[in-house]
Amino acid sequence: MATHGQLYIVATPIGNLNDITHRAIEVLQNVAIIAAEDTRHSARLLQHYAIDTRMIALHEHNEVQKKSWLIEQLQSGLDIALISDAGTPLISDPGYPLVNACRDAGLRVTPIPGACAVITALCASGLPTDAFQFLGFLPVKHQARENAFKAVQGSACTSIFYEAPRRIKDTLLHINEVLEADRQLVIAKELTKSFEQFFKGTAQQAVAWLEEEAQREKGEFVLLLAPAKKQEGDLPAEAVQLMQALLAELPAKKAAAIVAEHYHLKKNDLYKYSLSLK
Ligand code: SAM
Repeated sequence: MATHGQLYIVATPIGNLNDITHRAIEVLQNVAIIAAEDTRHSARLLQHYAIDTRMIALHEHNEVQKKSWLIEQLQSGLDIALISDAGTPLISDPGYPLVNACRDAGLRVTPIPGACAVITALCASGLPTDAFQFLGFLPVKHQARENAFKAVQGSACTSIFYEAPRRIKDTLLHINEVLEADRQLVIAKELTKSFEQFFKGTAQQAVAWLEEEAQREKGEFVLLLAPAKKQEGDLPAEAVQLMQALLAELPAKKAAAIVAEHYHLKKNDLYKYSLSLK
């Protein structure tokens, strides 16, 4: 039986060309094909490391259609590496349909870890790292964006977004309108590049910081929101979970009484919580 090839998911630098692993270079040199988001963009990286492997384009407009051909190549025994313009493929980048199809076809998919803007930003942000949620690019439409902010309003963990330079200021103004005025956030800009910068403060202070210098609105940004401050009377997560389950079957007062007794909480707090869901 012919041996199948494997698909490597190879992380590449997010700015500083030295941020690539020995293993990544080795894999890119040895595979038969590199599927790149933008072949012209990646040609610079490959040239820098003297890699002359054949490249084909795999981007969001052709990835569904190219998927079957790539699977055939893997099944015929060729190894393929997937790279994106920067960082880890599939993280707000193309590749999901291919990886999913490889898994379904029983083909081996091997990650080659490396740079990723979300993790690079988080680890140096000074915000809590024990629990975080990455929500990718913020929606473009105003209402959808507002819903995204409302969804993280009471969040107990750090929330992280990617944002385009042309929208960063509007986004901060919008956060200032929707979230509490003292909510802390971090802007991580131009990570790993010569003009890398971190700003920490409120949304209003962040707008002032951006406006101080015209250059500040340019570049690549990761936006991190601190967890919401714990309110007095906050309910334990397990109690909220039980309350939600019971509310599907019981009147609010009855559900509140059961949960209050079980977790030694105030009935009224639970009842108020049920009203907040309406
Ligand atoms: N796959 C990439 C990764 O692993 O992070 C992300 C690709 S996504 C298309 C590009 C977005 O990631 C940018 O708009 C920006 O929000 C963020 N990003 C990428 N490189 C960055 C950098 N050097 N500094 C700050 N943000 C960066």
